[in-house]
Amino acid sequence: MPKEEHYDYVVIGIGSIGSMALWQLSKLAASGKKILGIEQYGQVHPHGGYAGESRLFRVAVKEGGELVPLAQRAREMWLELNAISGRDVFLPIGALSIGPKGTVPIEATLSSIKEWNLEHDYFEPEELRERFPQFEVEDNMVGILDLNGGGIRPEVAVAVASDAAVELGAELRTHTRVDSINVETDENGAERVRIATQDGDVLAAHVIITTGSWAKELLPEFESKISITPITLTWMMPRNIAQFSPEKLPVFLYDTDLSSGSHFHVYGAPSLDGYTVKISHGHERKPVGSVAELNKVVSEETLDEFSINASGVVPDFYESCPRYSVHHDGFTENGKPIIDRLKDKPITVAVGMSGTGMKFAPIYGQIVAELAISGDSSVRPKAFGVEREVLNQNV
Ligand SMILES: Cc1cc2nc3c(=O)[nH]c(=O)nc-3n(C[C@H](O)[C@H](O)[C@H](O)COP(=O)(O)OP(=O)(O)OC[C@H]3O[C@@H](n4cnc5c(N)ncnc54)[C@H](O)[C@@H]3O)c2cc1C
Repeated sequence: MPKEEHYDYVVIGIGSIGSMALWQLSKLAASGKKILGIEQYGQVHPHGGYAGESRLFRVAVKEGGELVPLAQRAREMWLELNAISGRDVFLPIGALSIGPKGTVPIEATLSSIKEWNLEHDYFEPEELRERFPQFEVEDNMVGILDLNGGGIRPEVAVAVASDAAVELGAELRTHTRVDSINVETDENGAERVRIATQDGDVLAAHVIITTGSWAKELLPEFESKISITPITLTWMMPRNIAQFSPEKLPVFLYDTDLSSGSHFHVYGAPSLDGYTVKISHGHERKPVGSVAELNKVVSEETLDEFSINASGVVPDFYESCPRYSVHHDGFTENGKPIIDRLKDKPITVAVGMSGTGMKFAPIYGQIVAELAISGDSSVRPKAFGVEREVLNQNV
């Protein structure tokens, strides 16, 4: 029988949240604790909810409330990651919201800014056209630049956060799929978790599950709590690429009503590849049963229709889409992640990031580490608990 390995903390799933949890655990756990990260694919891979080149970061999140101080702390941590890695993981270029005055996305952003007194610039239509000539701006549209927003390079983030953890003494085991976890009692009566992998079992005093869209596979009791939702990213090609560099263009969100009467929401980032600009909208988001069932093909018809509408937003775009990819994330019913310690079990979970996990990843990593180490986290919103029906009433 192969020798069983013992660890104090094992993080399963080293994607957006897992890489940050591993980094934070390595910083916060008492010295001498043995920490392991297990990832089914490589240290960086194209299959996770984090893939796709860029993510948007905003401090002035539309939801406001407790999420704003979390975003502010996350920003400091992103800058720390930039500093320790020497890489542009976080691009502090601002986040621009454009939309008709008086509509929900604009008013919600303004109310979050007002509530927390956030640094921003506000543009009436004329000023907006002058400052950001890339966009079609109608006379009823205004712009808000969240000065502390920016872009995130997600693949780089996962790589450097897990590097930072290893640097601090954690071990990282890639290409190792966890098949099951079981809580058992050791010879001294203490609880521990047996983690079964194809390379043998690992024993942990505490396990952290950050398996994203795969959450239900290790947590069958979460079957009804998480739905796996496809998200398509699209990129368009401008004629004048110089106007779309990170020096000229922040990350952006743009809302408009089309002549057909339907609402068109897009979000995007400046050119990071030197020839395209990310500009995406929801497309169809019908949940799938498992990541393996994800259809990665978008029809020509959908792409053509999108290209026409996107060229209406940015007139410099060629009217066809040269690049797209289909990704996924685990969504909870109310859009709030589940970050909690499971009752009476040495297991902490951080799943159901619901399409917004990347911007908060470092602070969620810190919360996970605190929960695993002490059972409590002073910064975790109560609404993130597993028992949401009960807890939501107290938010
Ligand atoms: C297209 C798209 C655009 C988005 N845009 C934004 C944005 O602009 N801003 C923002 O803040 N958020 C955004 N999000 C959301 C954000 O990217 C996700 O919420 C976040 O990446 C999810 O992180 P995660 O750690 O839960 O999952 P993942 O990053 O997918 O990590 C899970 C990891 O667990 C591993 N794993 C799973 N099962 C096992 C197993 N059994 N054994 C070992 N390893 C396992 C997986 O391989 C994976 O590496 C977007 C998401 C998508 C898909």
